[in-house]
Amino acid sequence: MINGNRRINLRAIGVGAAMLVAVALVVNSFSTDAISRFKALESRKLQSIFSWINPATTPTRASDFAIKRYNLDLHIDPSTKRISGRARLDILFTSDTLRTISLNMADSLTPISVESENAALRFVHVANHLMVKLQRPYKADSHFELTISYEGSPSRRGLAFDEHMSTPMIYSYGLPFTAQHWFPCKDAPADKADSADITITVPTPLVAASNGRLARTTTNNDGTTTFYWWVRYPIYPDVISLAVTNYATFTLPYHYNDSLEAMPMTFYVYPEDLEKAKQQFRILPEMMKHHVAVFGEYPFIKEKYGVAEFAKASFREHQTLPSFAAKLITGGRESDWILAHELAHQWFGNCISVKNWSHIWLNEGFANYAYALWKEDTEGEEAYFNLLRSWDKDEFDGSVFIKDPTNKDALFSETTFQKGAWVLHMLRHVIGDEAFFNAVRSYVKTYAYKSASTEDFETVCEREYGRPLNWFFKEWVYGVNRPFYQYTWEVMPGADRNTVELTINQTQSDPAAFEMPIDVVIKTEKGENKFVIWHKSTCQHFEFSVEGVPERVELDPEGWILKKVRQGEPFGRER
Ligand SMILES: [Zn+2]
Repeated sequence: MINGNRRINLRAIGVGAAMLVAVALVVNSFSTDAISRFKALESRKLQSIFSWINPATTPTRASDFAIKRYNLDLHIDPSTKRISGRARLDILFTSDTLRTISLNMADSLTPISVESENAALRFVHVANHLMVKLQRPYKADSHFELTISYEGSPSRRGLAFDEHMSTPMIYSYGLPFTAQHWFPCKDAPADKADSADITITVPTPLVAASNGRLARTTTNNDGTTTFYWWVRYPIYPDVISLAVTNYATFTLPYHYNDSLEAMPMTFYVYPEDLEKAKQQFRILPEMMKHHVAVFGEYPFIKEKYGVAEFAKASFREHQTLPSFAAKLITGGRESDWILAHELAHQWFGNCISVKNWSHIWLNEGFANYAYALWKEDTEGEEAYFNLLRSWDKDEFDGSVFIKDPTNKDALFSETTFQKGAWVLHMLRHVIGDEAFFNAVRSYVKTYAYKSASTEDFETVCEREYGRPLNWFFKEWVYGVNRPFYQYTWEVMPGADRNTVELTINQTQSDPAAFEMPIDVVIKTEKGENKFVIWHKSTCQHFEFSVEGVPERVELDPEGWILKKVRQGEPFGRER
């Protein structure tokens, strides 16, 4: 991962070597931009810096500390497209050895001061990292508070200044590694803080929407308004949201606890889209009930669920307040899949975040699959299978597990979204509905407010299924391609019943054979006979006894397996 590489580079710096060697190594390790920054530093400054950034003696490992709370106080100036902010971070040490702290902070931001315990701390900001020298050693399990004042024109990757109807529209778009473009943080999905306070000051009458609960707003005497958002559930930086414009709002109730209590579903939309949004989002309380029935109670029930309209032609699952493109607000039903998908991310992605981005299919696959389940629930089985079929690309690029978690194109692809959903669909058929839905609920319960990996999910599924599933995950999550089944069948007539002899070959080259249960449906004039066979080698023979004369033999006719299938010339269809 980015952080890791940079860390290694920094750690490679000195190890007691002469200052010039250290500088050369650092310069080699960073981008041209960073090199010019280094060159611009006076040698006296360099000496002073490198006297304490010596990773040999002052390790900066991100695993040596955790940020337990983000307290962000941001002032947004749409006229200059700049922000100024103060980030107060509650840091928990997890080792005794830390002497410097390295945070992710984009170069487009400028730190003004770094303080702790009423003292200014020394820092270096380079190559998107803010390195802060600690005043004194801290024991493991002790906390300290770090306050970073900063300003800058954030890159659009993190925080964009846009507009609609000539009104400013400022938004975050929380993809991996984007939070660092607007506040200093540990920018990784497993690095969850226990809570966050997000205070946003904007020119009146703009409205600032964010995660959690709106604790209060204050009108200031300088023509600005401050919005105080409190998050009291674990949250990781990339799903912290900021959405600012002249929002109109409306609320729908989600009744829970046998309808005794209601949580607000609050929507922040452009005034010109209010009526369309009311029409379009009124489905959400029903979707919420569906997801809750399948996955368990909404994980942020003491806060809210909502949607914030934003200027980007996309959508993103910010915790308790996904962002939704203005152009998708039509008043119609065509973006229901996005509404169901983003809502499902509150369980899969936010409540359970991934241990690292390699496992992103656990977010995207589940979010897509949740929509398929909603479809099945509201429109029936045929609609469910048709949807899955529409997600079957003949060839998916790469594996569902993403080997390079910094490759954003691979992270957000048809493979992680569509094939990711197919993995769950196939798993459901392999282990059966009861074990599958128990496993999903058990996964949510076990990893709620924590982070999980593919192996964690596999373990939960194996527990419910009672048998190993590593073969399944190896084939479908870590592997590529699909089985190509070619089959032939013939009938051996019997006195009372007929025997169908079925031969199935797998003809793909990689892997030589997939192991999968396959539904075999044999149609006779007396009806349909369904069998399940376990296919796991290139060529296998099966025999089935049926009543009546077989007319058709089909493999997996409903579509439970990502496959290609071809029937060879039948021979000996004796009647
Ligand atoms: Zn998603």
